[in-house]
Amino acid sequence: MEFDRSGINALMEITARPELVFVRGEGSWIEDHTGKRYLDFVQGWAVNSLGHCPPAVVRAIEDQARRLINPSPAFYNAPSMELAKRLTGASCFDRIFFANSGAEANEGAIKLARKWGRLNRNGAYKIITLEHSFHGRTLATMSASGKAGWDTLFAPQVPGFPKARLNDLDSVRALIDAETVGIMVEPVQGEGGVIPASREFMQGLRALADEHGLLLIVDEVQTGFGRTGTLFAYEQADIQPDIMTLGKGIGAGVPLAALCAREAVSCFAHGDQGGTYNGNPLMTAVGVAVFDAMTAEGFLESVRARSRQLSEGLLALSGKWGLKGERGSGLLRALVLDRDDGPAIVQTAMDASPDGMLLNSPRPNLLRFMPALNISQEDVAWMLARLDETIAKVRA
Ligand SMILES: *Cc1c(COP(=O)(O)O)cnc(C)c1O
Repeated sequence: MEFDRSGINALMEITARPELVFVRGEGSWIEDHTGKRYLDFVQGWAVNSLGHCPPAVVRAIEDQARRLINPSPAFYNAPSMELAKRLTGASCFDRIFFANSGAEANEGAIKLARKWGRLNRNGAYKIITLEHSFHGRTLATMSASGKAGWDTLFAPQVPGFPKARLNDLDSVRALIDAETVGIMVEPVQGEGGVIPASREFMQGLRALADEHGLLLIVDEVQTGFGRTGTLFAYEQADIQPDIMTLGKGIGAGVPLAALCAREAVSCFAHGDQGGTYNGNPLMTAVGVAVFDAMTAEGFLESVRARSRQLSEGLLALSGKWGLKGERGSGLLRALVLDRDDGPAIVQTAMDASPDGMLLNSPRPNLLRFMPALNISQEDVAWMLARLDETIAKVRA
């Protein structure tokens, strides 16, 4: 296939992209327009939880597309109820609202918390969020995010998101006032550089929320749906949040997200929340297939086994090259470099031949790994061996 420059020029320029076009994918491998193959440790940004074009997802789309694509969110449809039942059955939540992106699910969580504050807490509306957090790219979720520079980009911000520091409970406590309605946190800061919230911090947030009558909101858009080795990351902290948002992995590549809430918090009145595509059967049918794959016997055990393999392999590379260790949870991991050659490593890994490799460097001194959750032991080993060669090449 020819590289189509007129096509590039017709797209709005929003980020620097490599000059290649991906045309097909299967499992952990993706192929470009020249037929070159790449082992994919980006997977649509931790989105393709079952790899590229997983048969269960293809089947779910085909079957549902023949049956019913969209009756309107004003009517019930079977796949959305099936998926909602599965999610409530597997979590501490009682009610689900489906959305089309993680940002939209988080917008819903913010609206729900503000509504709850109006009904129960004299109009309290502030939600404490964390520095370096990422909650999405709508105006409210950008305001909630703690990404550097976002406080002035597209100003004025949506008010009501004071920022505390991750794993610093005192910094959260210091921000609580009569107008505070909740605390929103990622169990692992993904975009912020794969920085896990400690178990003590998560438990401390739950205790603070209980003490002050606040809602604890977990943004599991990146950590949910098996990414950290359990179905939801909050389980590992032994806490029960009041609200959780899901995205990315729940749709295994298709636009699907969810706002999950406990019964006492589910206070939307008719007309408060909605959307043309929300809960459409085509996407929720995919969600059912993904959920069933992920809760099948042995699936999460194998995620944890691959996580140990990846973690040990990265640690070995860190020792060999004098790097600064590795961190993360499940199959969301980062290798901390001792210098700013992350982008060069990413580029060299991609350019390798005959087969390339897709990695991500969210910061110049960091490499992030977010493979398909069903990646094979051989493919993890292949990546580690190629990464070793790549570092050697870049640092030669
Ligand atoms: C990716 C991400 C979002 C935004 O999801 P979109 O589907 O891109 O809107 C929100 N929160 C977290 C933690 C994310 O990783």
